[in-house]
Amino acid sequence: MIKRNANYTNLAKGYLFPEIAKRRREYQAAHPDAKIISLGIGNTTEPLTPHIVEEMKNFITAMGTVEGYEGYQDDSAGMPKLRERIAQVMYGGKIKASEVYVSDGAKCDLGRIQTMFGSGVNVAVQDPSYPVYVDGTVMAGAGGKEPVTETGFKDITYMPCLPENGFFPDLSVVKKNSLIYICSPNNPTGACATRKNLEDLVAFAKANDCFVLYDGAYSAFIRDASIPKTIYEIPGADEVAIEMQSFSKPAGFTGVRLGWCVVPEKLKFEDGSAVHTAWEREINTQFNGASNIAQAGGYAALDEIGLKEMEETINYYLENGRLIKEALEGENFKAANVEIYFTGNAPYVWAKFNGKKSWDVFDAILDQCHVVCTPGAGFGPSGESFIRFSSFGHRENVIEACNRLKTLKL
Ligand code: PLP
Repeated sequence: MIKRNANYTNLAKGYLFPEIAKRRREYQAAHPDAKIISLGIGNTTEPLTPHIVEEMKNFITAMGTVEGYEGYQDDSAGMPKLRERIAQVMYGGKIKASEVYVSDGAKCDLGRIQTMFGSGVNVAVQDPSYPVYVDGTVMAGAGGKEPVTETGFKDITYMPCLPENGFFPDLSVVKKNSLIYICSPNNPTGACATRKNLEDLVAFAKANDCFVLYDGAYSAFIRDASIPKTIYEIPGADEVAIEMQSFSKPAGFTGVRLGWCVVPEKLKFEDGSAVHTAWEREINTQFNGASNIAQAGGYAALDEIGLKEMEETINYYLENGRLIKEALEGENFKAANVEIYFTGNAPYVWAKFNGKKSWDVFDAILDQCHVVCTPGAGFGPSGESFIRFSSFGHRENVIEACNRLKTLKL
């Protein structure tokens, strides 16, 4: 018999979102008349914008002709013109096209990236954080083995991100030679790292021989001009940081699948070899490039019309977030001493239900309001007592969910 990779044995029980889906299914089965609305997951709901659809259609039409047909790209890093456009539009030329690696999404890159570091590497994660960082680390055999709690691993450094520290971690807890995962705007807290936060992070990484794995999947939601949209706005970041990015949330590509990561040429392993050389080897071996149809859509998303349309979609979700925040400011929440955190720069509202457990609040909201949210405890030990409300949803559903939340009894 074939043995299961031992790393899989070490995974904490169930990935968060399937567990939420299971509870929703069970509730629906027991209450068939309940009209459940989800403010639970980060899945997009609004259609692809007309310009993107048009350009993808044109590309597909051309693919049906001998002249316009394209198969594998010459390498897996993506269409040269898309890499060039990302470098110009998203990084103002600070990053070269050759340092941009187009992918089928940030999540896939977050998984693949661990292959380059092997087992035994120190890992530090924000707590709470997107579950993929910890689970991907454990699957790769990095970060040690023993779970100390349901969600905590002994050899992974959890960096608490709480209201008390402005949701940005105290880096002094991080070991030398660590991979440090930072997500800004953050899922789940919605908090954004300030310029000073990122300057300190880059300085820390340099002084302690760390790499930063910077997840900027929500950067297009940043409205505050003082907040960096990419870590490469910080001088020296190209010596320590890899950035993951995604078309999923701003362009509604959650199903289309497209993202990229930046692996700068200056980033070097301990032995002096270039990380981007290893990354090219990795993607040319384990990946065969993102769908060229998706890339045609991404290319359109980053031209003048595409950017304007994306802006409108993002504004729509941010307005949903504002409505949710307003509902949570109601008397019933005030009386229960609920603290609300909404930055207006991310599609999530993060709320602390003082004195209560996340999953209990999740159950109460599902039972009384027929609304699905996300229990903060699923994002890490410091997420306990918090709930994440997602602003991805049709406006009418969000308004209905808000009306129901106003009746919640805590
Ligand atoms: N990073 C964060 C922080 C996310 O919240 C998500 C999706 O919810 C992703 C990455 C995944 O992005 P993609 O759809 O590009 O794989």
